[in-house]
Amino acid sequence: MTTVELKNCPWCGTTAHLHINSPSVYWNTVACALCSVEGPASETTDAAILAWNRRASPWKPICTAPKDGTPVLLYWPGTGGWLPKMYYACWDTTVGETINGQRMGLWSIGFKNYLDPTAVTHYAPLPDDPPSPSSDASP
Ligand SMILES: [Zn+2]
Repeated sequence: MTTVELKNCPWCGTTAHLHINSPSVYWNTVACALCSVEGPASETTDAAILAWNRRASPWKPICTAPKDGTPVLLYWPGTGGWLPKMYYACWDTTVGETINGQRMGLWSIGFKNYLDPTAVTHYAPLPDDPPSPSSDASP
């Protein structure tokens, strides 16, 4: 049995209601008793936990990023030291190199700061807003 912790339920976010189902020696899953979502069936409990913990990566190639002003999270792998690798940004078409009389744009990170568009490799859509304080029952 592994000591790997179970990730939260991807649907309801709980950890308190997760349990490992082992109805047979060939079929094990991790399931959420709160919302009934169940991970992939696996031959061992360790494999069931690994399958439950696997998540799709939110990162997409930068060439597919929206350039319509939609805010996104950018990933810049070349930075180090005190510089962050991730930036909240949107594509700004009022700046950047001018080609044929048209601005090409740059990734704006606010306050007239821009990232080198050739240095950014991936983007991720922003998550939804959190629930409002009045509807959030968690502490
Ligand atoms: Zn759940």
